[in-house]
Amino acid sequence: MTDSLRFACTGCGKCCTGHHVPLTLAEARRWADNDGQVVVLIEAFVADGPGMPVEQRDHVLRRSYPVPCGDSEIRVSVTFAAFNPGRCRNLDDNDLCTIYDQRPLVCRIYPVEINPHIPLRPASKDCPPEAWQQGPELIHGRQLVDAGLEALVQASRQADREDIAAKVAVCQALGMTTSALKGNGFTAYLPDMGAFAAALAQEPEDDQAQWTLHVEDVPMVASLQELGLRITNEPPVYYAFIGF
Ligand code: SF4
Ligand code: SF4
Repeated sequence: MTDSLRFACTGCGKCCTGHHVPLTLAEARRWADNDGQVVVLIEAFVADGPGMPVEQRDHVLRRSYPVPCGDSEIRVSVTFAAFNPGRCRNLDDNDLCTIYDQRPLVCRIYPVEINPHIPLRPASKDCPPEAWQQGPELIHGRQLVDAGLEALVQASRQADREDIAAKVAVCQALGMTTSALKGNGFTAYLPDMGAFAAALAQEPEDDQAQWTLHVEDVPMVASLQELGLRITNEPPVYYAFIGF
């Protein structure tokens, strides 16, 4: 994280346009109840094996869930996000959030990073240069200055850990059981929101579905198959593969 950084939001609204906003399970439920579309993004890795970033071991293990894949096991990380290919449905003509008091956690946290291993870099954010030249100190000595903001970041990380089993259950109930390999891409699904809301309302079942990894790189396919993993490189029909 940067040693010292000032910040004051200019209200430009850019972070509310073209960003799929990660949602907690409770927020995804509210988004569905309010006729919003959710996009489901899935990545997976083998514990202490392919796809696992060793330097982020604790972080990625805690926000992932083990599922069968072929003769082996992968750990999946699932993101439910508000599908915002353009302006967020809650952004009004004056670039103001119409659900400001109930906006998702991630909206409250931006531009701060939730992943403790990703440093905050103004250049990778949508905020205009003047936002970083005004306001109080956001970061001092590589720490967030605002204790309230730090609490929101911690709450977001905690929700990631607490929600993962239920998110995986929703994916399995809707047949969204093909993942990309972490670091290689994501699989992305746009579920029917009626079915999504119904799956969210169900008690999670203990049954574990077989999962598949979508990998297009031929040598990588071969090495993963040697580990007993179930792999596909068929063109996807029900999901998109977003490769890196
Ligand atoms: S919910 Fe509000 S703050 Fe969040 S992206 Fe939409 S308009 Fe922006
Ligand atoms: S992009 Fe940055 S400055 Fe613009 S509204 Fe979002 S947080 Fe504020």
